[in-house]
Amino acid sequence: MNLLDAHCHLANLADVMNVNLLLDEAEANGITRFASSALRKCEVEWYLSHPDQRIAFSAGIHPNFDECDLELADIVRLCEQKQIWAIGEIGLDNGNPEIALQRKQFSQQLDLASDFRLPVVLHIVGHHSEAYDTLKKYPLSYLIHGYAGSREGYNQLKRLNAHFTISSRIMKEDKIDLLKAVLSDKRFLFETDITQYYIKETEPNPLLRLNQLIDTCSSSSGISVERLTAIQHQNAKALFKDFVL
Ligand SMILES: [Zn+2]
Repeated sequence: MNLLDAHCHLANLADVMNVNLLLDEAEANGITRFASSALRKCEVEWYLSHPDQRIAFSAGIHPNFDECDLELADIVRLCEQKQIWAIGEIGLDNGNPEIALQRKQFSQQLDLASDFRLPVVLHIVGHHSEAYDTLKKYPLSYLIHGYAGSREGYNQLKRLNAHFTISSRIMKEDKIDLLKAVLSDKRFLFETDITQYYIKETEPNPLLRLNQLIDTCSSSSGISVERLTAIQHQNAKALFKDFVL
């Protein structure tokens, strides 16, 4: 079985762990593809200097990550050089009070995605209606990562040409209705969102969380692992195109 981690931060993890070894072990456990995000200039450099057919990377100016030092010109260059599969993660986040700057960077990057016909990986925390009103103006394909907001927000965002990731954030008791809705709509992929900030000392390979996540999702929903991964596979084919599983 070939599995995809639809959203992670391998270059960020590489600051503190030997990612090549982690990737080999993950591959031996069936996780063979990683849609990984770059949010710092040094992370872009890591992806460019570690080409690996298991990894497709995206890059973006994050709405709420202080260490993000990417500038629009960096993203433009990566688009021109056809290095990235998507723009992101980008979006709006109510944890950052600088809303005017977020709006400007969000629109600039959506314009860029339109110009280069690239999908967009979205980080949306709060501001769901505003994000929806902005996103619907673009004829783009979206991967809404880590969504754990309200059902109303979900119902609005799903009207877009969007896929959603299932992460540990919606495996909690108070998110069960949202998880059920995401599962029944069958527009999902699974993600770890792993970064160096989320690792635990007792965990030798955090990439293997993807297997645990799918197992947990299967036992709480009653849907078999095979069925869940088959749906993810279909969605990945639609979203990634050249990035073959
Ligand atoms: Zn992320």
